[in-house]
Amino acid sequence: PIYLDYNATTPVDERVLAEMIPWFSQNFGNAASRSHLYGWQAEEAVSVARVQVAKLLGAGEKDIVFTSGATESNNLAIKGVFEAFGKEKNHIITIATEHKAILDVCTHLEQFGAKITVLLPDTDGLITTAQITEVIGANTLLVSAMYANNETGVIFPIEEIAKVCREKNVFFHTDATQAVGKLPINLRNTPIDLLSLSAHKLYGAKGIGALYVNRNNPRLKVIAQMDGGKHERGMRSGTLNVPGIVSLGKACDLARLEMSANQEKLSFLRNKLEQTILSMLENTSVNGGNAPRLAHVTNIAFGGVDGEMLLGNLKNIAVSSGSACTSASVLPSHVLKAMGINDDLAYSSIRFSLGKYTTEEEIDFTVNHVVEVIEKMR
Ligand code: PMP
Repeated sequence: PIYLDYNATTPVDERVLAEMIPWFSQNFGNAASRSHLYGWQAEEAVSVARVQVAKLLGAGEKDIVFTSGATESNNLAIKGVFEAFGKEKNHIITIATEHKAILDVCTHLEQFGAKITVLLPDTDGLITTAQITEVIGANTLLVSAMYANNETGVIFPIEEIAKVCREKNVFFHTDATQAVGKLPINLRNTPIDLLSLSAHKLYGAKGIGALYVNRNNPRLKVIAQMDGGKHERGMRSGTLNVPGIVSLGKACDLARLEMSANQEKLSFLRNKLEQTILSMLENTSVNGGNAPRLAHVTNIAFGGVDGEMLLGNLKNIAVSSGSACTSASVLPSHVLKAMGINDDLAYSSIRFSLGKYTTEEEIDFTVNHVVEVIEKMR
């Protein structure tokens, strides 16, 4: 099938793979080995990667903590700040359309005394800074709001939210897993305290990511969630995944150089896909369609078709549906539900996420396939 699920994961770019391979068996040293060349080489590779990641974000390399991915980064950010300050301030604000790696962390912290406010977005999946300002109180410790949504591609007004939080003396974390390498991010001009990212969403390896921890905010403290050998300046112990880190660095480097060309091509292909489908099929709409969106994502609701059958019928394309399989049961997407979309329409919504290897032929094929399947089902 044609792969249009790049928001789930991306293939490793061949140039990234070529950089990471020697670090498995040829240069296999432990980056924490200080007494010999094997260790020094690995340490050097890690510091090159750290600079590459920092450069893409407009951050300092000392602000980058390597983790196993965005799930871990989100856990470290939110639990780490709560453990450091939870006795003084226990209120955390987040949004109903966040990834489970945010929402479930917040729920977890409730048993340790956290008070969680989950804001509801409008029907386009957006929230305003005013909504956040309204719920910030003297007890508010942290706001966590994603940069761009993984299901709809909706982009949040992160710079504005960050500024409001800074003014109110509240820490600000953003899950930027879907935005890094897709949108220009400059942390030098934006008062973001913590930012999560993951390599496998930008053509790097799986199981590697980073948390940006803003060292220019002297108030910020993050308690490690993994104790041990005090790697990553004590913020994340454990022998560094050198090949993974090298892959993340190279992926960030390529993204920095190629982002604008990729996004230009992707927005053309995404618009073609979306507009053609909408013009050929009635009772079809774009979830989050009126909000600013990532150029490579479209989430389309196909009215009047059975959602359970839809994905099975679209067997020539690899996409994901507006529902999530949680162990045995299939539930409508919590993101679409939070936007006020009813269960039926959430079930019959499809996320198409394109990537840099997507071709126009694939898009043309997809349009025909989708139109044929939907017409047959109706
Ligand atoms: N946050 C968002 C917004 C995501 O899309 C994902 C990946 N689905 C994650 C977090 C989790 O990332 P990882 O797979 O690196 O743990």
